[in-house]
Amino acid sequence: MFKSKLLLLAACCIILSSCSQDRPASKPIASNASSNQPPEANSVDLPDQSGTEANDSSLNGNSGSAPTENVQPQEASTEPPEIPQHKYHINNVYRVVPNEDGIEKKVVLLTFDDGPKEKEMLEGLLDTLDKHEAKAIFFVNGYRVKSNPDLLKLIYDRGQIIGNHSWDHIDLKKESADSARKQVEDVQQIVEETVGERPRFFRPPFGSGNETLHSIVEENDMIYMTWSNGSLDWDAKFKNKPDGVIQNVMDQLHPGSNILMHELPWTEEALDELLTKIETEGYGFVDPRTISAPPEN
Ligand SMILES: [Zn+2]
Repeated sequence: MFKSKLLLLAACCIILSSCSQDRPASKPIASNASSNQPPEANSVDLPDQSGTEANDSSLNGNSGSAPTENVQPQEASTEPPEIPQHKYHINNVYRVVPNEDGIEKKVVLLTFDDGPKEKEMLEGLLDTLDKHEAKAIFFVNGYRVKSNPDLLKLIYDRGQIIGNHSWDHIDLKKESADSARKQVEDVQQIVEETVGERPRFFRPPFGSGNETLHSIVEENDMIYMTWSNGSLDWDAKFKNKPDGVIQNVMDQLHPGSNILMHELPWTEEALDELLTKIETEGYGFVDPRTISAPPEN
């Protein structure tokens, strides 16, 4: 008799404790579908939306704090991940700008195009990014992902962000709408198959696009960008010239610099010094996961 009372008491305690816990992720957030904006745009307006982007941010999935007890069996995996809030967007000249006043303007976005190519070079870039606690977008080509799925996983596992740079690295402006769509969507698919998550950012090869491409990218819930600060590391003049690459970026440095670099050996060689110089000028590195669609788009 006493034992059964104890059991009842214990059961009440469990129920009470699970009710009293804050569970921010339990907010119904997926339902503001009245606009046709991508979910990123909607989430800008929600101060407490850390659960919304679970797919986008499962990068963080294994570093999240685990405040909940084991009361709920496997729902515990939906614990709120540590997602940076959306603070920035890409403006019409492809600079990174704050969504509102009071957010640091003096930032740069680091991007590396045309990979994933080669393990050692990539690891060099990743190590340097880690050293500077910087995140970057790696805009990948589908045909390279197909040859190097392990390298794509490496980028992802090291906490960096993957962007879509088309399948074949061709001039999409010259393609039919169907062909351009395939170039974009096949990359979404292979990246998802490889790392379980679709890119949120798109950059057309050669910065070359048109209205049709913009629409395709938007339909795929991606943010379109070219760049605003070209390192010229792709220019034959700067081949094997890390100092020249550094100088090019520093000469063009401006708040919100969207810096275009490539997976190239001389860029890897330049990166540590380049990031140090950028920091010395008082700039921070934007975490791409804090970039949303423009707030009033
Ligand atoms: Zn490219």
